[in-house]
Amino acid sequence: MAEKIKCLIIGSGPAGYTAAIYASRAGLQPIMYQGGQPGGQLTTTTEVDNFPGYPKGVDGPTMMQDLENQAKRFGTDVRFGLATKVDFSSQPKKVWIDDQIELEADAVIIATGASAKWLGLEGETTFNGLGVSACAVCDGFFYRNQVVAVVGAGDTAAEEASYLANLCTEVHMIVRRNEMRASLIMQERVKNNPKIHIHWNSETEEILGDANGVTGIRIKNRENGASEEIALTGFFVAIGHQPNTSIFKDQLDMDAQEYLITEKGSSRTNIPGVFACGDVQDSIYRQAVTAAGSGCMAALDAERWLAANHLH
Ligand code: NDP
Repeated sequence: MAEKIKCLIIGSGPAGYTAAIYASRAGLQPIMYQGGQPGGQLTTTTEVDNFPGYPKGVDGPTMMQDLENQAKRFGTDVRFGLATKVDFSSQPKKVWIDDQIELEADAVIIATGASAKWLGLEGETTFNGLGVSACAVCDGFFYRNQVVAVVGAGDTAAEEASYLANLCTEVHMIVRRNEMRASLIMQERVKNNPKIHIHWNSETEEILGDANGVTGIRIKNRENGASEEIALTGFFVAIGHQPNTSIFKDQLDMDAQEYLITEKGSSRTNIPGVFACGDVQDSIYRQAVTAAGSGCMAALDAERWLAANHLH
C-alpha cells in the first residue's frame, strides 16, 4: 500500500534542504528522498568560499551535513532512495522510489539538480578536486596566479574563462570546432582578453599529473593531428550540464535543454502542487545560494498551495 505524505521533497542539495527546513518549520512534515548523490554536487567540491555566513569558508560535504542536520532538527524525515517514476496526472501525486516503494504526496517539491557533463577522460576522475573542476566560480580562487585551461565554447565556458582570467596568469580555452557556440558578446570578451589563448579545433587527449595533482594536458589539433602539451595546474570542464529531469518527461514542461520550467517569480510548475527549485530549473546562476533561495520559495509556495486546497 502507498505511503501517504503531505509534502515530499525529491533531492538533497542546497535547494532540497532549504525547502526541507522551511517546510518542516511550517508543519508540513516533509519527507525527503535524497537521490543518487546525497548532498548533491557540493559533496564533490572541496572548499566553498562564497556561501554567505561562512567567513572562513567551509568544505562542501561539511556544509551539506550541516544543512541535513538543520533540516532534521525541525523534523524532516530524511531517507535514502532514488525517485525512479512519477505520475502527476491525479491528486495525490504518485512517486515510486527505487522502482519499489510507492508514495502518494499532496505536494511535491522537486530539487533533483543537474549534473555537470564530463569529457570521459580517466584524469577527470583521478584528479577530481586535485586540479580538475566543473565550476570556476567555486574553485577558481585556488588557482590564482597559475595557468589553467577551460574546455568548452558555450556561454558557460566563455564566462568561466573570463572569470579565471581575472585570477590566473594564463587561461587556455580548448574549443573543439573552429567556432564558438557562446553569445557574440561573450565571444568578443574572450577573444579580446590578452590572457586567454584559444586553441581552435582542439580536443583534450590526456590530463597529465602526479600525486600532487594536475601538471598539464595534452591536446590534439583535429585538423592536422598535431599534439601539444601545455603545463598547467587547473583544468575546468565547461561543456554543459544535464538537468536531472528524465523521470518528469511528458509530465512537466521543460525547455529545449530539459530544464523544468517554473512560472516567473515562483517555483510553480505546470502541474498544481508540484514545485521545482535549484539547478533543475536554473541553467543560468547555478549557485548554492541561489538554489537555497529557490528552495525557500518552493516550501512557501507548497505551504500556500496546500492551505488554499484545504490539505494543510
Ligand atoms: P552549451 O550546451 O551551450 O555549450 C556546451 C559547449 O561545450 C559547446 O561549445 C560544445 O561544443 C562544448 N562541448 C560539448 N561536449 C564537448 C566535448 N565532448 N568536448 C569538447 N567540447 C564539448 O552549455 P553551456 O553550459 O555553455 O550553456 C547552457 C545554457 O545556459 C545555454 O543556453 C547558455 O546560453 C546558458 N548560459 C547563459 C549564461 C548567461 O547568460 N550569462 C551563462 C551560462 C550559460 P560545440 O559548440 O562544438 O557543440
